[in-house]
Amino acid sequence: MKFEFLGTSDTGGIPLHHCECAICEEARQKGTSNRSTCAYLELDDGSIILLDAGYDLLSDTFNTRTIRAVFLTHFHADHCLGLIRLRKSESVIECFIPHDTQGFGDLFLHKDSIVYTILEPFQTQYIENISITAVPLHHSKVTNGYVIKTDKATVAYLTDCASIPSESLSYLKESKIDYLFLDACYEPQYANTKHLNWESATDYIDTIGVKEGFLVHASCKTLRPLKKSGKVLKYSYIEQGFKVEV
Ligand SMILES: [Zn+2]
Ligand SMILES: [Zn+2]
Ligand SMILES: [Zn+2]
Repeated sequence: MKFEFLGTSDTGGIPLHHCECAICEEARQKGTSNRSTCAYLELDDGSIILLDAGYDLLSDTFNTRTIRAVFLTHFHADHCLGLIRLRKSESVIECFIPHDTQGFGDLFLHKDSIVYTILEPFQTQYIENISITAVPLHHSKVTNGYVIKTDKATVAYLTDCASIPSESLSYLKESKIDYLFLDACYEPQYANTKHLNWESATDYIDTIGVKEGFLVHASCKTLRPLKKSGKVLKYSYIEQGFKVEV
């Protein structure tokens, strides 16, 4: 099975509107667009399990494909915007969510084809032989990360978070994670209470102990000092299209 990222960026995307920094100019030259952090698992029959739905082109990208389920981390726009169009689907789409009574915009008022199911902390949902477990994270909205176990590998998709609660940290350590993808929205100098930065994220990956760790949810502001200094991080930022076999 394939686990691939549709986007790995912060809300504004790369290139950012009207930004003339070196990161954005390079993206324009390459013709790339890195949108909000969002990933999917492609099952052997071609059907899709989505991790987040902030990628605004979901309806086009998977237009004729079956979406088995969406596992939403939280109801910030950059993680659920794709549901605005997807809810008009002719098929019922199951969407697993954290315990958030507010949701986003009118998504709960007009559910259309989306069926929302709350996943309590550490609750596991099975789809065929894949298990997906909700792992609570500290963020400015109620947020779950997800640990995905297939026959071949264990993946942790952890975005967004300012810190990882101790119970979640224990669970992650026990999970023997092969691939961990973690929020590192900021450079360390930028004090923030909503997201990790590349230093705090690196410390968490070391603490959890994984086969391979990667950073996500960067903006061009995050990446600029790295490009300028040539600094190489222990765990690197990935871009849209990054994939692993699981
Ligand atoms: Zn920029
Ligand atoms: Zn968020
Ligand atoms: Zn976000």
